[in-house]
Amino acid sequence: MAKCELCELARTTTWYAEYDEPFRFAILDCDSCDVPMAVLGEHRQAPTEGERPILQRALAEIADQKFPDGWFFDDHMRQIPDHYHLHARPYPAWLPKNLRPK
Ligand SMILES: [Zn+2]
Ligand SMILES: [Zn+2]
Repeated sequence: MAKCELCELARTTTWYAEYDEPFRFAILDCDSCDVPMAVLGEHRQAPTEGERPILQRALAEIADQKFPDGWFFDDHMRQIPDHYHLHARPYPAWLPKNLRPK
């Protein structure tokens, strides 16, 4: 079986939270982007409809504290397309406040 970086998460960055209930996932800083992300505890391409809002809520709590000026969900999975992870990215500083959805 091919090794997956997100299945074998190295604890080299900040971990904010780990959950076992209602399903396994973790919130941690992404090694390559240096922003918080939620990572599914199982090797799956997508969360279920029930899991998605739980992941988003947990990540939003961390992102609100870290990026008080606004941020957005980014679930484009460029490097690891088959293991679900969701980034919270801050808006670029040049983006006018009125173009920020929050
Ligand atoms: Zn995986
Ligand atoms: Zn990243």
